[in-house]
Amino acid sequence: MRLWSLSPRYLDRMGLLAVWRESLLAQSVLLKGEYTKCSNCKGSPLMGEVKCTNLQTGKGYIKEFWCTKCKETGKIKTPYYNHPQLERFKKSSDSVLYINAYLNYIWQEADRRGYKFDINKLIKYEIPQLFSSLTVTKEQLNYEFKHLQKKLHKRDYEKYVENVIESCSFTLKVEPHPLFEIIEGEIESWEKVKDNL
Ligand SMILES: [Zn+2]
Repeated sequence: MRLWSLSPRYLDRMGLLAVWRESLLAQSVLLKGEYTKCSNCKGSPLMGEVKCTNLQTGKGYIKEFWCTKCKETGKIKTPYYNHPQLERFKKSSDSVLYINAYLNYIWQEADRRGYKFDINKLIKYEIPQLFSSLTVTKEQLNYEFKHLQKKLHKRDYEKYVENVIESCSFTLKVEPHPLFEIIEGEIESWEKVKDNL
C-alpha cells in the first residue's frame, strides 16, 4: 500500500490506478476500524457446553466449546489496519473523512485526464470547507519523488521526463497531494526507507 504524499499529477496512468485502488482499500480498512465482530460466533465466542463425567472420580463437570476462528475473543483484527501508510490518517480528527478527501483529489486528477473512476465508491463525496490539512515533511516528499521517478524511469519514460522538467521549473519544490501541507523535517518515521534511491 502506498498513499503518495505527492501531487497525483506526477503519477502515470498505472500509478494513478494503483493509488485509487489502494486508497479505496484504506477507506474500507479505516471504516471497519481495528476490529470487526467475528463472523463465526457473532461476537459471542462461547459456543456451547456439554455435561461430562470424569470416569475415575464419577464427578460431573462442564466442558465448554469456544470459537477458534477468533481465538476465543469474539473479534477479528482488520487486515492492514496497522499498515504504516495509514498512520497519519488515523492520527487525524476523522480518518474516514480524510481518506475520502484524499480519494476525491485522486478522482479529480483522473477526471481531468479523462479516466472514468467511479466516484460512487467514496463514502463521503465532498471535500468539506474549513478543512485543515494534514502535514508532510519536506524530506518525505523528496524521498517519495525520487522513489516514484525511479519507477517511472522503467515504466513510463515520457512521464519521467515530464516530471523532471516540472520539478526543475518550480524552484526545486516538489508539490504535495492537495491534502497535505509541507513542513520542515526529515523522512517520516512510518516510511520504510530503501537505501538504494
Ligand atoms: Zn469467533
